[in-house]
Amino acid sequence: MINGETRLLGVMGWPVSHSRSPVMHAAAIQSAGLNYAYVPVSVHPDRVAEAVNGLRALGFRGCNVTIPHKTAIIPFMDELTPTAKGAGAVNTIVIEDDGRMVGDNTDVAGAYDAILAEKGANVEGGHVIVVGAGGAARACAWGGGDRGAARVTIVNRTVEKAVALAEEFGPVFPGTAYEAARTTTPELLANATVVLQMTSLGMKPGDSLPFDPQHLSPSAVVLEAVYAPLETELLAECRHRRISTVDGLSMLVAQGALSLEKWTGVEVDRLAMRTALLTGD
Ligand code: NAP
Repeated sequence: MINGETRLLGVMGWPVSHSRSPVMHAAAIQSAGLNYAYVPVSVHPDRVAEAVNGLRALGFRGCNVTIPHKTAIIPFMDELTPTAKGAGAVNTIVIEDDGRMVGDNTDVAGAYDAILAEKGANVEGGHVIVVGAGGAARACAWGGGDRGAARVTIVNRTVEKAVALAEEFGPVFPGTAYEAARTTTPELLANATVVLQMTSLGMKPGDSLPFDPQHLSPSAVVLEAVYAPLETELLAECRHRRISTVDGLSMLVAQGALSLEKWTGVEVDRLAMRTALLTGD
């Protein structure tokens, strides 16, 4: 029920109509009985500055940020959390009562919380393989060092992008050995604690596997970023080989739940969010 006290939240993107965030946030808001409304905010890339001021003027409590604004929004923030700085991207804006805008990033914790909550996978002292070197991969590669992984290997078809990330994060986390590779080798996979699949491979029928899970150790955990389709070929192959997996919806729900908790201070119902994503309401 919207009334005079309702606080506003949203997701800013271009286009934004495909976003699943309004559905899952509405479910969590309803389940917790919170007086918030979460709306899609369609913002052309030329109007980001105006949109940020608009959020402030309209008294929004917060806003998620999605493609293509996650990096472009950074100069308009009054403050960035260390995670947003490290990830080089803002997916969550927290707007304080005085209008100050804090840029945060819950994609990092969303990925690592999902594997910890579902599979008990703690990467401290372990070997993290990040497959991909785009926005999601960057956040995960930074998160590996931040969580005390002993080794982070970034694997990407365009290996120069992986090398650039390894060179950037290595000096930031001296306790973590960062390295780059063009492909996953059996040796790499055999040593992995977790593999975070952060490429867009798996979205289209006929896509090749991002890596071959046959060389993984039985204790390894695979996180899939792709959530449409929910059951990618990689997840099916891992299941066939009895390798633990966490799907893309778990990652999506985890980052959304963390954003909502930052805005409201209330622990939210992740199952309600997942159910809403699966049923569409
Ligand atoms: P992005 O910045 O565009 O990066 C795409 C990555 O995929 C790059 O590393 C790219 O490699 C690689 N790639 C694309 N096509 C490939 C191919 N044919 N062969 C090998 N590698 C290929 O995208 P992003 O924002 O990081 O998102 C990546 C995926 O994660 C998307 O599917 C997105 O929907 C998903 N995602 C999910 C969540 C969630 O919460 N579940 C959150 C964020 C993102 P090159 O560098 O060589 O081009």
